[in-house]
Amino acid sequence: MLTLKTALNMHEDELKEVKQDILKRVKDHIELNAYIGEINASDAKGVPILIKDNINVKGWEITCASKILKGYVSPYNASVINKLHQNKMCGFGRANMDEFAMGSTTESSCYGRTKNPRDTSRVPGGSSGGSAAAVAGGLAIASLGSDTGGSIRQPAGFCGCVGLKPSYGRVSRYGLVAYSSSLDQIGPITQNVEDASILLDAISGYDPLDSTSVNMPSCNTFKNLDSNARYRIAVLEDFLKDATPQVQDAYYKTIKILEEMGHTIVEKSMIDTTYHISAYYIICTAEASSNLARFDGVRYGTRAKAENLKDLYLNTRSQYFGEEVKRRILLGSFVLSSGYYDAFYLKAQKLRSLICAQYETIFNECDAILLPVAPSVAPKFGSSQTPLEMYLSDIYTIGVNLAGLPAICLPVDKDEEGLPIGMQVIGGRFQEQTILNTAYGLEKELGN
Ligand code: GLN
Repeated sequence: MLTLKTALNMHEDELKEVKQDILKRVKDHIELNAYIGEINASDAKGVPILIKDNINVKGWEITCASKILKGYVSPYNASVINKLHQNKMCGFGRANMDEFAMGSTTESSCYGRTKNPRDTSRVPGGSSGGSAAAVAGGLAIASLGSDTGGSIRQPAGFCGCVGLKPSYGRVSRYGLVAYSSSLDQIGPITQNVEDASILLDAISGYDPLDSTSVNMPSCNTFKNLDSNARYRIAVLEDFLKDATPQVQDAYYKTIKILEEMGHTIVEKSMIDTTYHISAYYIICTAEASSNLARFDGVRYGTRAKAENLKDLYLNTRSQYFGEEVKRRILLGSFVLSSGYYDAFYLKAQKLRSLICAQYETIFNECDAILLPVAPSVAPKFGSSQTPLEMYLSDIYTIGVNLAGLPAICLPVDKDEEGLPIGMQVIGGRFQEQTILNTAYGLEKELGN
C-alpha cells in the first residue's frame, strides 16, 4: 500500500482511484473484519484515513463496537476529523475495536473479532485492532486509534506496524467517546515512522473545545525529523521478567543496535509493574463507570422495551452492554463507593503520583526509555485468558498513560514463526520529537 507521505502528493483524481483500490482490498480481505459495516466515505476530499469507531464523524454511525449504540448517527465531527480536513485528509471507513475500547484483543466487539493479517489464527491486539490490522494488512494507508492503556501501541506491535500515543493534552479529545478521560489520547497507526510524524502533526494542537487540551503550538515533527540525533536511553531490565524469551531477546538486540548507533544506554529501575496494573485498572474502571452512565437508552442508540423508567435503564444496559464493559462498570462503581473510596481509589491516585514522579526522575537524566510493547507476540484465538490475565498483559503500556507521556511503538524483530515483535520508545512529556527521531533512526538502521 502506498504511504501517507506519497499519497499526500497525489491529485484528487488519483486519490479517487486509491479509494476504489482500498474498497476492493477490503472486499478481498473481508475475513480480516478490520472495517465495520459499509464503508463510509465522507464528502470531504483528500487522503483516506481509517477511523476507529469511537471517534465522531458527522453523519456516520458511531457505535464503539457496542450494541448499545447501534444506529446512533453522529451529529458532529471530532476535532481531529476537522484537522484531517485542514490537512488534505479525510475519514474513510470505521475500524473495528474492542467494545468501548476495553480490551487487548478486539474480541469484545459486537461485530465479531478482527484477525491479525500476519497470521489469521491470532488476535490483532486491541483495542484498536481494526485500525492496526487494516494498516498492516494493506487495507488502509493510515488510521486513527485511541490509547487509554496501550490500545494504539499494542495492536501496532502485534500486527507489525507503527503506533504513536501522543502526550496527554497534545491531541484534542473532543469527539472521542470517553472511556477513561484522564488517560485517553487519539493517535496515528501507520506503515512507518515518517507517516506517524506527518499524521501526528496534522491532528495535534490546542483546542478550546477540550479543557484538557494544552495551549501549545501544533507539533511540527516531520520537518524536524532527524535520524542522526543521539540520546541517553534508559532501559528497565527489572521489567523483563514477565516477557517471553523471544521478547527478551528482541529487547537486548535492540539495545545493542541503539548502542552501536551511538546512543548512550543507561540502566534504570522503577516500581514493580504489578502496581502499574493495580493503579490503572482502578482508575480506568472508576472513570469508565462514570463516563458510561450516559448510555441509558434515553439519549443514544438502542432502547430496550420497558414498563417504566427504572426498567428502561436496567433493561437497556443489561441487554446491550457486553460482558467486559459490565464487569468494568461494576468494578468502577465499587472502587468509588463510599466505603471503599479511600481503600482503593485514593490509593490508586497516590500510586499514580508515585509512578509519575519515578518517570520524572528518569527523564531528569535520560531522554527516552526503551521497553517492549507487550510480554509476548500476538496470542492465538482461543488461548483466551481470564480477564485478570488479559489485564496483566498490559504491563508495559499503561504506565505511559498514567503519566501522560508520549510513546511510539515500532516493529524491531520477528520470532521464529515470523510474528512481529514491537518495542516502544517512551519520551518525557511533550517530547514527541525525541521519540520520533529515535524511532526513525532505529527504523532506518533495521532497514524496515
Ligand atoms: N487493554 C487496556 C484496557 O483494556 C487498554 C485499552 C485502551 O488503551 N483503550 O483498558
